[in-house]
Amino acid sequence: MNIKYEKKLNELRRKGRLRELVPFQQAGLPGSGPSVRYKGRSLLNLSSNDYLGLGQDEAFRQQFLTDLDVTDSTKSGFAAASSRLLTGDSPLAHHLEDEIARVYNSESALIFNSGYHANIGILPALFGRGDLILSDKLNHASIHDGLQLSRADCKRFRHGDYEQLWGMLRKYRKQYQQVVIVSESVFSMDGDEADLDRLLELKYEFDASLYLDEAHALGVYGRQGLGKAEKKGLLQDVDFLVGTFGKALASVGAFVCCSGEIRDYLVNHSRSLMYTTALPPVILHWNLYVFQHMLTMNRERRHLQQISTQLRREFAEKEFANLGTTHIIPVLVGDDRRVLEQSGRMQEHGFLVLPVRPPTVPEGTARFRFSICANMQWEDIQQLPSCMAGIAVGANGEK
Ligand code: PMP
Repeated sequence: MNIKYEKKLNELRRKGRLRELVPFQQAGLPGSGPSVRYKGRSLLNLSSNDYLGLGQDEAFRQQFLTDLDVTDSTKSGFAAASSRLLTGDSPLAHHLEDEIARVYNSESALIFNSGYHANIGILPALFGRGDLILSDKLNHASIHDGLQLSRADCKRFRHGDYEQLWGMLRKYRKQYQQVVIVSESVFSMDGDEADLDRLLELKYEFDASLYLDEAHALGVYGRQGLGKAEKKGLLQDVDFLVGTFGKALASVGAFVCCSGEIRDYLVNHSRSLMYTTALPPVILHWNLYVFQHMLTMNRERRHLQQISTQLRREFAEKEFANLGTTHIIPVLVGDDRRVLEQSGRMQEHGFLVLPVRPPTVPEGTARFRFSICANMQWEDIQQLPSCMAGIAVGANGEK
């Protein structure tokens, strides 16, 4: 036993912060909503990012498999067997990128193996010495890690505090060659939104660029589900728009929409693209299939908004604090051990909602994050407000 690791693990356990891998089995029963089986019980899964329910849509998966020509390894192969810069590239990857660029009306698009790869690979490739990255403090860990890898100067502004961002731009803009503002459009742990209009005003006022991570908005917002920038009619104003296939698109992989020149530059400089094995053909094929299908899922998007709004309204009636504005609804519990205990209690009520604790969220703000998906019905979630009474922190700070 290594004393150092043992001590650290015990400390995490004592604080109620130990993370463990739990093998949930997706139940995937038709009409059962997004459920998982755990310890012999079927639980409603409120912690997945399968926002359109496509990951559990058995008929959709079967249709893909039926359409798939299993004898054609260019479509159903499991091995890319090398980086895209060697022999792992394929016409399918280019086809998917062209399709994404066409739909986004972007000059070009580039695929990464995941959103994590995209965020740690793009920022350090494009921004280095003499540049400045300004990042929202609540941006995802992959963005923070991208900042760490970059040689650019990095400053973080308070979450959604565009006055502070304005102050930083005014003070520092002239000292740097390039300045980029980095934000999520829908924040993953707070379920609130960036003010895209304001971010763009600042971008233009200070001749900066905008890097927007639409991980949690893709599939959910906009006429074709392209995200918040589409919804606001601002697609052309975003310089680097990142989307991931890992959430509403029920797969793995990610993309960035950018100019052709930036795409060429990333192919030559982005280490998380260059030095990793490409996504296999079967995944690229599935990604294309899901992406095209997702564009037409407006009925599901409307339903998702409707039940999310209703749930947030009922939580607000119970005076819970900080409920966000989207299909991700955080409910603050505060203490790490308490959120852990209550997560167990929620399972007794048939709900799987995993505790979110520091360092994923700031100290003292442990919470439940209710991730609402389009394959849920209101009846599935209507008990949540009463189950959460006495657990959530109220808007006035009381429990
Ligand atoms: N960006 C954001 C905002 C995210 O929430 C996540 C995943 N939680 C990622 C990027 C990483 O995406 P992926 O899961 O595809 O690696």
